[in-house]
Amino acid sequence: MKIFRKATNAPVVDTAAELADELETLERVQAHNASIHFGAPTRCPACASYGFVEHLDLVAGVADNRCPSCATSWRITQRALRHQAMAARLEVGPRHEGNGILFQNVMAA
Ligand SMILES: [Zn+2]
Repeated sequence: MKIFRKATNAPVVDTAAELADELETLERVQAHNASIHFGAPTRCPACASYGFVEHLDLVAGVADNRCPSCATSWRITQRALRHQAMAARLEVGPRHEGNGILFQNVMAA
């Protein structure tokens, strides 16, 4: 499976597919009832054991992790965390409802 691909030191390529993989990894880690703090060890997305941080690049915003129990490798990126935080804010943000002039302009745009 792609999200369990071997972590490498290659530079992060900014593609939508990679971001989707990173977001899926976040969701799998968080599914184990775990919050994520960038750079800190997280739960393994596969077996929920605690992993350890193998490589941390603060400039690139990349943390590569490895699970000592099942040998899974995964990558936590700051851009995925930012993206997720932004999406959460949008979900509780204002809705485009009503029939006022502002709403009509938004819908026409
Ligand atoms: Zn594991």
